[in-house]
Amino acid sequence: MTTFTELGLSECIVRAVSEHGYTTPTPIQLQAIPAVIKGGDLLAGAQTGTGKTAGFTLPILERLSKGANAPKNKTDRRPIRALVLTPTRELAAQVEESVRTYGKHTNLNSGVIFGGVGINPQIKLLKNGVDILVATPGRLLDHKQQGTIDLSHIEILVLDEADRMLDMGFIHDIKKVLAVLPQKRQNLLFSATFSDDIKALADRLLNNPAMIEVARRNSTVEIIAQKVHPVDRDKKHPLLAHLIKTHSWNQVLVFTRTKHGANKLVEQLIADGINSMAIHGNKSQSARTKALSEFKDGSLTVLVATDIAARGIDIDQLPHVVNYDLPNVPEDYVHRIGRTGRAGATGEAVSLVCVDEFKLLADIEKLIKRQLPQEIIDGFIPDPHAKAQPIQLRSFGGQGQGQGRGNGGGGGARSGNRPARPAQGGSRDGNPSRPATKPVVKQNTPRRSGGRGNV
Ligand code: AMP
Repeated sequence: MTTFTELGLSECIVRAVSEHGYTTPTPIQLQAIPAVIKGGDLLAGAQTGTGKTAGFTLPILERLSKGANAPKNKTDRRPIRALVLTPTRELAAQVEESVRTYGKHTNLNSGVIFGGVGINPQIKLLKNGVDILVATPGRLLDHKQQGTIDLSHIEILVLDEADRMLDMGFIHDIKKVLAVLPQKRQNLLFSATFSDDIKALADRLLNNPAMIEVARRNSTVEIIAQKVHPVDRDKKHPLLAHLIKTHSWNQVLVFTRTKHGANKLVEQLIADGINSMAIHGNKSQSARTKALSEFKDGSLTVLVATDIAARGIDIDQLPHVVNYDLPNVPEDYVHRIGRTGRAGATGEAVSLVCVDEFKLLADIEKLIKRQLPQEIIDGFIPDPHAKAQPIQLRSFGGQGQGQGRGNGGGGGARSGNRPARPAQGGSRDGNPSRPATKPVVKQNTPRRSGGRGNV
């Protein structure tokens, strides 16, 4: 088995990695680390959960700690030499934490800047100088405009979760940043998906890149136990409370489609005596940080999040992810459940699916190339006559974090009034037109083949 040392990392970096508990490189690390150390550009297809952060952090630390420009100590003023751009504040903070963790025995230092918090401490940080800066694009440009940042010594640029940055409308900001960087530099682009826009960005940015794609979907998806609970729209909240209480779940990440939905659910769960907080784009940075840290240290039972706010949340061995609403974009399902089952740990992802969401479920199953087992919970049998309603895509009064992306955005009653699983809610004798007389409560039985055609 290949070790971190054999990948070309120095002893002080390998030591930090092993002190952090990692002995074996993940597949993305096996490929990315030597490629980045070599110095060329890189195009990597990898999502959160694969170990991608260390995949670029470790070789960047290696490169910057060697050679003529390597700092002689931790404290001298120095120019920024590596810039990592991320779509969200949470991800920026986590990436910078990784840089600090893995770089602790080097002379390199790092900093993070993002919006939603005061700019003055960041100005001070930038004045003192850091070797590696992790930033969200908007705040980085604020600093550029104010003349409080010097990007003229950048040797390495990383675009992390580039697909998400484009989804969030950062392309113009990225172009503005690229325009002020030195021409000669190493570029690393990480993306979970490869849309035409990403390919266009890669074409513009990368020069003869090494290309890496790790088998992410299946490898991540396969170690996670996934289950669908068909349920009526208005029974989702009592069902969630029931699941949390009966199984004594104590660390649950719950996804809602909208910020309004997240707030409402938190109120309901708190009324049930379940300790919950929400994390989304309308929350202040301090509220988000507080919620995340209490969730991480185990004092908060339920964290309710919208997709973008949760992006990159990195919690080792998070046991439970609940899709309270299915995402509109099937790829988001994979991102969501990737919060559990990290780097080999097993986890459980549960989806509460009502009649409005059958089409979304079918899209997800198509993407992950498997049918998800369904289980109707006793006491929460869905009404077989319920009619699908259009899916609400936007929060009330929100400004669009995590909504309205992809898939035409229309939602709506796309699936008609069909049960999530024909084998249970409908005919069991092979006649798909015969309506169910009574829904069947089953435990964990895989859907019979042919079910997909009905959704
Ligand atoms: P990432 O894909 O960067 O978000 O990392 C996913 C998770 O895997 C994080 O919790 C990392 O700390 C963890 N991780 C990264 N590299 C390794 C490794 N070589 N062995 C085990 N876990 C790792």
